[in-house]
Amino acid sequence: MADLIKLLPDHVANQIAAGEVVQRPSSVVKELLENSIDAEAEHIKLIVKDGGKTLIQVVDDGMGMSTTDARLSFERHATSKISTADDLFKLQTKGFRGEALASIAAIAHVELHSRTSMNDVGTYLKIEGSEVVTQEVTATARGTSIAVKHLFFNIPARRNFLKSDQVEFRHIIDEFQRVALAHPKVAFQMFNNGSEYFNLPRENFRQRIVHVFGKKTNEKLVPVEEETEVVRISGFICKPEFARKSRGEQFFFANGRFIKSPYLHHAVVSAFEGLLKTDNLPGYFLRLEVAPKSIDINIHPTKTEVKFEDEHTLYATLRAAIKHSLGQFHVAPVLDFERDGNLDMPYNFKDRNAQMPTITVDANFNPFFKGSGSPTSKGRIGKKSTEGWQDLYDFDKVDGGFSKLQVESEVVNAEIFESADETIESKQITFQLQRKYIVSTVKSGLLVIDQNRAHQRILFERFLREITLEKGVTQQLLFPVELQFGKKELKILEDLTHDLNQLGFDMDFTAEGPLRIVGIPANMPETSIKEVIDAILVSSLEHTYDGFSRAEWISKTMCTSLAIKNGQGLNQDEQYILINDLFACKEPKLSPFQRKIYVIIGANEIENKF
Ligand code: ADP
Ligand code: MG
Repeated sequence: MADLIKLLPDHVANQIAAGEVVQRPSSVVKELLENSIDAEAEHIKLIVKDGGKTLIQVVDDGMGMSTTDARLSFERHATSKISTADDLFKLQTKGFRGEALASIAAIAHVELHSRTSMNDVGTYLKIEGSEVVTQEVTATARGTSIAVKHLFFNIPARRNFLKSDQVEFRHIIDEFQRVALAHPKVAFQMFNNGSEYFNLPRENFRQRIVHVFGKKTNEKLVPVEEETEVVRISGFICKPEFARKSRGEQFFFANGRFIKSPYLHHAVVSAFEGLLKTDNLPGYFLRLEVAPKSIDINIHPTKTEVKFEDEHTLYATLRAAIKHSLGQFHVAPVLDFERDGNLDMPYNFKDRNAQMPTITVDANFNPFFKGSGSPTSKGRIGKKSTEGWQDLYDFDKVDGGFSKLQVESEVVNAEIFESADETIESKQITFQLQRKYIVSTVKSGLLVIDQNRAHQRILFERFLREITLEKGVTQQLLFPVELQFGKKELKILEDLTHDLNQLGFDMDFTAEGPLRIVGIPANMPETSIKEVIDAILVSSLEHTYDGFSRAEWISKTMCTSLAIKNGQGLNQDEQYILINDLFACKEPKLSPFQRKIYVIIGANEIENKF
């Protein structure tokens, strides 16, 4: 048989490698920014157009490249950063694989300008899909500029797979923030579609965090410092009261590189034990310096997952350092063993005279009436005579549909009193079970409704209708609510402005300042503004939707935050309205998350129990 194995041509091999290195525009941003850092740049400028699909350009004032190096840098496994295997254990640079530029050039149009300080003139190179189209001498500033255009121009499947410009831009912001936070001593600028998005001067770590996440962040930060033989920890944690459900303000940097580590994250969370509400995550910006040989950054192609030699020690040190900071800055609750808090008198009761408790007796109290409040409907309470007593036996009326269970003797009774005074409204009587279910009756048996899911369905359909068809009603706030967000979060909300307006939100975006909320959807309590906006942000970080599915996603998020919770007491009217609204829904059976809203326990089933 003839030999079948061939060596792949370079441009094919590069395209395959690109699959691993370049998942989306933000991957290119990361690689280019890191190259500029490795080139010891002091100023780095990132320019992005259309979510990075049309253009990603990074301009630096670093060491630049000679003509030969510029040409070589696009070859695979071409790197200036390591030369022997031993070097892998002494890494001080971000890059070392020599793959990024080769991969990028295989799937985009790349233009490079570069000049070193030793040369008066620089090099211009144009490469399209691994092919050098132009190479010229050029006049250019010291440093390097690499422009990446038409990403995935030769892989339509990958290009089609990209999300909307807004979503891709958000990923770019993520990468930019990570690099910018890891290198506060480097000045960064970022432009999006021609307008400046970030302008970060050379500064210290704290200032950098505040610059990236907004002025309000400053008051949240608590410093953490610790140095042992294994690790030097420095940075900040956020005070527990600022913890939120969202992931997003959790950053570890190991030797100047952003890393993800569920294990170390756990160490931080466990140090906050007892200080956080369930599901809330603490914010942190922590830098770990370890000996380069004790860290393996080679286990993941995009290098955010790392392996530490002595993870257990690191865990314990980190946890202790954070606990220490929380205690030192009086963030943790102070325990006073001398006093029993239960014996303390609330201070506004101090110096007041004790009052005899008064007893009020409701002369009209009727233990058989199951309605809430003090019903004054005719014929029941308020009638001192025995008039209406028969209702107590009139199951048909007192309990609405219960009579339909057709328990014979009762039916007979009911008929006997059929002609009695009409004493109760035609409202179906309902009651709440364990503050979780609303129980009522239907022809065939007992109807048990999950109150939370029912309300989710009602709100979901309302929000969806408002976003897609008719604008919801706004209640103007007497005192606008101001919420502080980072740029990325503001951008997300800005992208959702149309949908949020439709729902009834009225918001003012100011460039640097807080988000002012002037109006909110009618029926939405003012106290849930922050929770609702936070929930939208959290889920938008995890999901990305366009068009109708976006309306659906916002509606789902909002209905989850705003729906009546289990454990909430509902009065008779509220129960009644809930049931009515539920059955006016298009799909009363299933919650927006496809869970059963109600069950019917058949009369037969009940009878079988006897
Ligand atoms: P790696 O960073 O892993 O070495 P890259 O493909 O990212 O691989 O880059 C290849 C080489 O090109 C680098 O080793 C470096 O010598 C050179 N290079 C890339 N970007 C720059 C830059 N902005 N300034 C100077 N040199 C650069
Ligand atoms: Mg690199």
